[in-house]
Amino acid sequence: MIKYDIIIIGSGVAGLTAGMYSARAEKSVLIIEENFLGGTTATLENIENYPGFMKINGFDLIQNMVNQCISLGVQIEFCSIKNINYDKNIVNCDKNMFEYKSLIIASGTSPVKLNLKNEDYFKFKGLSYCAVCDGSLYKNKRVIVVTKNLSAEHAIDYLSNLTNDLTILDLSNNYQNENLKVFHDVKIVDLIGEDRLNAVKFISQGNEITLKCDGLFVELGKQSNLKLFKDNLETSYNFLVTDENMHTIIPNVFVAGDIRKKNLRQIVTACSDGAIASTEAIKYLNSIH
Ligand SMILES: Cc1cc2nc3c(=O)[nH]c(=O)nc-3n(C[C@H](O)[C@H](O)[C@H](O)COP(=O)(O)OP(=O)(O)OC[C@H]3O[C@@H](n4cnc5c(N)ncnc54)[C@H](O)[C@@H]3O)c2cc1C
Repeated sequence: MIKYDIIIIGSGVAGLTAGMYSARAEKSVLIIEENFLGGTTATLENIENYPGFMKINGFDLIQNMVNQCISLGVQIEFCSIKNINYDKNIVNCDKNMFEYKSLIIASGTSPVKLNLKNEDYFKFKGLSYCAVCDGSLYKNKRVIVVTKNLSAEHAIDYLSNLTNDLTILDLSNNYQNENLKVFHDVKIVDLIGEDRLNAVKFISQGNEITLKCDGLFVELGKQSNLKLFKDNLETSYNFLVTDENMHTIIPNVFVAGDIRKKNLRQIVTACSDGAIASTEAIKYLNSIH
């Protein structure tokens, strides 16, 4: 078992800021990430409201934050957390077990999924949840976008510039676009392919259709990443409740960023939460010594 002063779950801007503050205070720090570095911010094309930059690309901002963390000695581990033992201060990952003195949860939000059995298998093999991140891989290819209640408007605009072969599967009945092939009232029943996704089977207005594709973009909005925490921490409307200093009902567990119940979910407020959570976690560590 590897031991750290502070373990942070999530490498979005909240987690990276908490990591940077914690490492500057000479604490041993591990950030655990289950997906890619930078969370939602890494997927943003243009950020125009982060202080100090008239305009910055999300990926560049994250690259700077990650470099800053690494240069200060923050460790980063990619793994999937199976469970957390809050009594013994242990995070159980698929590959390893980690012990913390203080835990900061910065797990943010994730794309809403289709909930099909082979969906995870096709992720990065033709299926994407982020047009801005992966769209360029499908230039001039056959692309399908899944939308519901106009959730994919930005993604559709973006992909329209990359390919002429764009089909929209509208799970609701709200998306209209005379220039594109649109199926309404869709229920997706299967994702088809061997090594990669190459077709989608769906029902639209009573007809079963199988449509070949090179890429499928599922653009159904975001949901909070609560599953691991909701049985042990206080929640409200699918967010974790803290006081204004990021404290939860467990003295050595803190929360930062979009996963927290609050009014404004932005990069600057996520960074602020991360800084406060780290400062409070350090105070906690000092109090137990
Ligand atoms: C389309 C869009 C545009 C936006 N534009 C702007 C903008 O212009 N300006 C602005 O200020 N804000 C903008 N925002 C909001 C901003 O992106 C978020 O407020 C910010 O990214 C929140 O950061 P976070 O660190 O709290 O969470 P996230 O960015 O969601 O990061 C959470 C991280 O935790 C990881 N994670 C989750 N669960 C686990 C787990 N169990 N184990 C390990 N890792 C886990 C995730 O993979 C992810 O990397 C926008 C948001 C969206 C959706």
